[in-house]
Amino acid sequence: MRHPTVVPFHDLSAILTPGDTQAAVDVAEAGWYVLGPQVQGFEHEWSERCGVASCIGTGNGLDAIEIGLRAAGIGPGDEVVTTSISAAATVLAILRAGARPVIADIDPTTGLLSRESVERSITSRTRAVLLVHLYGQMRGMADWTTLCGEHGLLLLEDCAQSHDAAVSGRRAGSWGAFGAFSFYPTKNLGALGDAGALVTSDKRLADRARALRNYGQTERYVHDMQGLNSRLDELQAAILTARLSRLADWTQRRREIALRYRSEIASSAVGLLSPPDDEENHVYHLFVVKSPQRDALRAHLAGLGVETLIHYPVPLGLDKALRDVPRDPAGIPAAIAHAEECLSLPCAPHLSDDEVSIVIDAVNSFTS
Ligand SMILES: *Cc1c(COP(=O)(O)O)cnc(C)c1O
Repeated sequence: MRHPTVVPFHDLSAILTPGDTQAAVDVAEAGWYVLGPQVQGFEHEWSERCGVASCIGTGNGLDAIEIGLRAAGIGPGDEVVTTSISAAATVLAILRAGARPVIADIDPTTGLLSRESVERSITSRTRAVLLVHLYGQMRGMADWTTLCGEHGLLLLEDCAQSHDAAVSGRRAGSWGAFGAFSFYPTKNLGALGDAGALVTSDKRLADRARALRNYGQTERYVHDMQGLNSRLDELQAAILTARLSRLADWTQRRREIALRYRSEIASSAVGLLSPPDDEENHVYHLFVVKSPQRDALRAHLAGLGVETLIHYPVPLGLDKALRDVPRDPAGIPAAIAHAEECLSLPCAPHLSDDEVSIVIDAVNSFTS
């Protein structure tokens, strides 16, 4: 039986404003649709926001990672260590760049990449560690910088879930050789379709990325590299610029909701991930709880009209498509356990206080 939804996980039309619609109409009437003044304007604003020298708009987040890797000179023969709990795009991008992903395990208290597992996964061919600021949280950045420095590796950031997150005042995307963002509609800053961006302070990497996203073209119809077509639309750039002024409020609202979940969820059958060291470290793209009876909890919430999702039900490397990807020689037991226990509660800026209360009451009425 299908239950009526009382608290939806996403309600993307709820954040659409007349300003967004007008921005779209303005682009349609301006008559310049791909890589134009809107894209340049957004690239400028987003690079400032991230505290880096350059931003290169791309078609989506997966492409941003691939382009970043290729622009950094990472490809065939190179290994990139990354996490087993992320969107498949993280690993697919490494494969598409022609490099070899090596999937490491997670820290069960946060869901983030485990340092010990990364150290076990490094070989003589390793060139980079690709961090994912999963669920919106950044942690241990100084330690990752040190570890990569000691091993002569590039630190890279998948920032698709961490817009505006920061550590010591330094934003996501400014710690690594590059940061890759997605502006898929459900992300913390979302477009009205696919969109992405690469940010970097490395001028050479930025120049190469700018060429790679547009066939590898360095001058009109002159190609120095075999690039791809991953250009950002004017329409999406205009929407993103219009929405940028609201991102801080949205993040604030996500944090308020998370704070209530943290203090009011009391069911003994439900566990929380470790809180961030500092408020700025977490932008709560997702609020994830864990339960040994995850599927029963999910059914219980659905029965009360509370929509939930699972991020992610299958660790990377265990899906059919990625089964041949090498993993930490000690395995990925923490990721396997996490995938069985994790559950994402609604945590989006459109939720009202009453809706948040409904979620909390629903969780607290779950008994094992
Ligand atoms: C969404 C996401 C991506 C991919 O972004 P797309 O724009 O969908 O290609 C990559 N990594 C993570 C962690 C994501 O959440």
